[in-house]
This record gives sequence, structure tokens and C-alpha cells, in this order.
Amino acid sequence: MNTLKLIPLGGIGDVTKNMYVYEYGNDQIVVDCGIGFPNNSALGVDLIIPDISYLEKSNKKLHGIVLTHGHMDHIGGLPYILPRLPGVPVFGSTLTIALAEEKVREYGLTNKMQAVENHLKLGPFDIELIHVTHSIPNCKHLYIKTPGATVYHGADYKFDLTPIDNRPADFTSIARVGSMGVDLMLTDCVRVEVAGFTPSERTLLTAIDTAARTTIGKFIFTTITSSISRIDMAIQAAARYNRKVALAGRSINQNVEAAMKCGYIKIPKDVFIDIKQINRYKPNQVAIIIAGSQGQEGSAMQRLAAGEHQLLKLKAGDHVVISADAIPGTESDVHGLLDTLYRQDIRVSYSATTPGLHVSGHGHRGDLALLARLLKPKNIIPIGGNIRHMYTYRDLAHEMGYTRDQVLLPENGQVIGIENHKIKVVGRVETKNVYVDGLGIGDVGNVVLRDRKVLAADGILMAVVPINSETAEVAGEVEIVSRGFVYQKEQGDLIKQTQKQVVNCLKDLKGRQVTDWNFLRRKIEDTLERYLYQETQRRPMIIAVVIEV
Ligand SMILES: [Zn+2]
Repeated sequence: MNTLKLIPLGGIGDVTKNMYVYEYGNDQIVVDCGIGFPNNSALGVDLIIPDISYLEKSNKKLHGIVLTHGHMDHIGGLPYILPRLPGVPVFGSTLTIALAEEKVREYGLTNKMQAVENHLKLGPFDIELIHVTHSIPNCKHLYIKTPGATVYHGADYKFDLTPIDNRPADFTSIARVGSMGVDLMLTDCVRVEVAGFTPSERTLLTAIDTAARTTIGKFIFTTITSSISRIDMAIQAAARYNRKVALAGRSINQNVEAAMKCGYIKIPKDVFIDIKQINRYKPNQVAIIIAGSQGQEGSAMQRLAAGEHQLLKLKAGDHVVISADAIPGTESDVHGLLDTLYRQDIRVSYSATTPGLHVSGHGHRGDLALLARLLKPKNIIPIGGNIRHMYTYRDLAHEMGYTRDQVLLPENGQVIGIENHKIKVVGRVETKNVYVDGLGIGDVGNVVLRDRKVLAADGILMAVVPINSETAEVAGEVEIVSRGFVYQKEQGDLIKQTQKQVVNCLKDLKGRQVTDWNFLRRKIEDTLERYLYQETQRRPMIIAVVIEV
């Protein structure tokens, strides 16, 4: 019998870019295909995708990608990764596939996308999809059976007993697969620090209704654009107070369309109006569901707040309702958005000032323990959290009687073998972050990032040096250009001294014919680097351009 292997390509030690390979003999499946959001150390990078070079090099048969739910950190990588996996089909629940199709539509991809609700057989992998609750409907956990071992793949969840769509988690099936035997459980762990159980999405109803009812001008509602049930609540509330609803932002339009197609948002069509028609109505007759709850640069919400939105303007009496907490890393954008709104005296409601406007979509300690108790897995790997969440989950597992050997805290790229009801690290594959920057995928490497960091920190200084190739002497004026380093007009003296340094550093080469121009360039750059650091304690990027005359 073969060993079942699990290889996380992303999703371990960070909350995002989830992607897991399962391998049995010569067969593979992939679970989820997410993107990550860069932090401040990746300047100018739009997003991060998992590194699939292992899959590309592997000569095993990849039967398909199975998606657990429609959040971007689980499906957002598809447009970038599917072109490199031609012919590989994608599976997921009805809503998840509808959302995924919206995401890849404009990329002209031909991979088959198939909605499945209950069961899937891919080569030796027998997969049961089990309904669970989260902050997006139609979310699935996977019970993966192979002849060698069984795994319960518990991606994002909380146990919401009163979800908006009235479909609580399928506890019966969870308990049933628990009694059939689970060798390894992977589980969400990102909210393990919080005791008790996560409140239901339904607890938001009152706060959202109150916000809509007490709005004088336009009711402007923003949340994570895939939070379908929250968008549904806002639309229902707006309709209750006789407002027409317009959608602002591409992802909101895509997601609402997909959710309506699958019946997760049920609103009479005549409630919606095109955003272009908004000025035909009085402010108290409209609601706007708008993308950009994280204050992202360029998002519809950020442009509206900055007065740069083509069709929408903020006016006294308008009410902006933010039903989302900042995703770690975006706090400063969110605070910037709030300040911009407050400065215009616009009424803003958000969870810090208005309790009940946000609840987490992830299980607290109680939810997490409940899943483990129902499944009784022999081994556990916490996923989808930062390092501290994984370690804290191990403490929770310890309280439930698990030993250290039974809770593995792996790294991305480690190969985990599951055999004889035991798990251990059996190998490693190379993984790195792949950066997506504008239209380029993977062409921003560590060197480019390092350059951007230097430029951002200390700017750039360029020395254009005309040199006589016969005598190695400076033949004319050395031109110094700098950006983001010192203000040139006020630093005439420093610039003059810099020019002198260039001339001086070439003096000992005088009279020799120049054969190695690179040597000359490096010598100028080294000299200036030392000189400028001594004078300014800064290290701008220095580029010497040597012109042969
Ligand atoms: Zn999620």
C-alpha cells in the first residue's frame, strides 16, 4: 500500500494563499488555490500566489483542484495558476464554482469547472464534501479517503447555528465520518486565541437594520466583497426602508451576480438600479453597496471618500457603514479611510463605535474543540493561521488529550506522510513566494524587491561620468542626478563634493588605457557609497553611468 502524502504549498504559517497537494502513488489532487496579500516588505507587489513549480515538474497525474469555498485566499489564484495547469478540472460547491467562474471569465481559460455538492471520485481519492458554515455560504469541508489513509480537510469554518440561509453545518455527517475514522484532521486555527464560540452572522441583523433605518442621506454599505450573507442583509435592510440599491465596484458586481444566480441573494430585480442612474433619485431613496472595506488604494470606497469617484459624491447626511474588521496588514489603510470620512463630517459606523457590525467568520476555541471532539482524529495539523495560532492550537489540542507527536506544526513545502494512523515529515519540496505585479507574474524576484526597498528608504543617486578611454581621465563635467535622496537645489555643496570624489577616485588610473569599463563603474559606485554614507548616514542606490569620449 502507498503512503498518502500531504504537501502544503501555501496556507501554513500565514492566513492566506491556501494550496495543499495530496499525493497517493502516482496520483494527485490539489485543495484550494488562493492568493495572499503582500505586507509592507513587498513594495509595489499587488498579490502573492503559491509556487506550483513542484506540480509542474512532477510527472504524477493531477486529477483536479477541489475548492472549499469562494474566498479570495482560496480561489483567487485560479486566473494565474490555471494557465500553467492546462486541462486540469476545477471542482467545488455551486456558489464557489459560480464565484470562481466570475474570477476567471476575462482570462479566457478553458479548464472545466464543475459544481459538486456531495461526492467526488478522483483517481484513488474518494472525496465527500461536507457542508459547514463560515462568513460565506455554501462552504465545504472535505473527507478524503484513500486505500492508505483518511484525511479530514477542515478549511475555514465557524459553527453558526442560526446562519442567514438557515443551513447550519452538517453535524450528522461530521460525526459519521468521525466514527468511520480520521487519521489526520486539518483545521482552521486563526481565532484559537479567543475563548467561547463565535457569534452567528445573524447577530449582525439588528445593527445593520438600525444603521439603514437611521440614515438621513445615502446609505453606503461596505464589507469584504465575498461576504455574501452580509451583503444580502444590507440589501434587505435598504429595501425595507424603500431604498433602491446600486452596486459599486467590479468584485461586488461579480459576486452579487454569482450569488443571485445560485439563490443566495433573493431580491426582486426592481430593487437594483444601475449606479449610473443614482442621481435620478434623492439621497434618502438610495443605498450603495460598495467595494473597498479595507480602504484599499484605488477601490471604489477609497475613491468615493477622496472625492475622486466618477459617479458618486458624498454629501452631508450620508452614512458610511463598514461591516468588516481590518485584515492584518491593512490597518493603516482603514484608518486613513476613516480619517478622510471624518474630516468631511460624514457619519461613519464601524465595529469599534457600533458593536454588532462585525463578527468573525472563523471559529473561536469552542468551535475548534467541537470539531475535534466530533471527528476524534488520530492526528491534527492546524492550518490557515499565523505561527502563534498554530502553537496556541497545539495547547488546545493538549487540553483535549493529544500528545506532541499527534499535533504537527509543519512548514510550507514539507512533505507529510500519513501511514499506519501516524504522521511525520518525510521530505521537502522547494517553495517560494511568487509575486504578481501588474501584468507580470513571478518576474518580481528578491533582487527587484531589495532594489525597491533601497529606493523607498534612501532614494537614488546617479553619476554620469564622461571618460577619455585613452587616459582614463574625466573628460568634462560629472553630472549628478538624484531622486528621493537629497533635495538637489539645497544641497549644492554636497553635489559639488560628490563630483570631486568621482574625479579624485580615478586619479590613480590616470594615463592608462581603459580596458575594463565595469571596473571603473564599480570603483565610482564604491567610492560614492562610502562618501555619501559618511556625509549623510544614508545609503541611496548609486548608479554610475560611464560615457566613453
Ligand atoms: Zn474563508
